Amino acid sequence: MFKCNYCGSRNTRKLSAIYDEQTSISYESGTIKGTNFRGRFNNQIIHQTNLARQIAPPTFPQGRKLEIIVIAVTSFVVALIIAIFLHSAILLVAAFYGAIAFCIYGIYKDFREVAEAKKIYQKRINEWYKSYRCSHCGNVFIGQQR
Ligand SMILES: [Zn+2]
Repeated sequence: MFKCNYCGSRNTRKLSAIYDEQTSISYESGTIKGTNFRGRFNNQIIHQTNLARQIAPPTFPQGRKLEIIVIAVTSFVVALIIAIFLHSAILLVAAFYGAIAFCIYGIYKDFREVAEAKKIYQKRINEWYKSYRCSHCGNVFIGQQR
């Protein structure tokens, strides 16, 4: 157990233990009936105290590859409709290669950003696992071995 580096209290607990204790996940499922439809739903509900939310671990960086592809495809479809409307083969070709170039560049950039974000995440998550919270004053600190 580590002494709080702010108030000196020995009443400190590991952050990850507090987080686990104050977070729970439940599942609900059921059927929705409308006049013209009927569907099943499955929800995952995360129950958290305010404290758990405050001390939550850093989130794992998510890439935006899908978003990039959706934007490229949508732009291409819009350009395709305009090209058909204008009878423009050049616009169609330009839109096609433009969409491909956008995807390649976007995914490459995303790949580099995610790689950088993962390094930062790794550092933060390591710190998070070594962090303690003082129950007396609420100070969060990294436990130092001495
Ligand atoms: Zn303290």
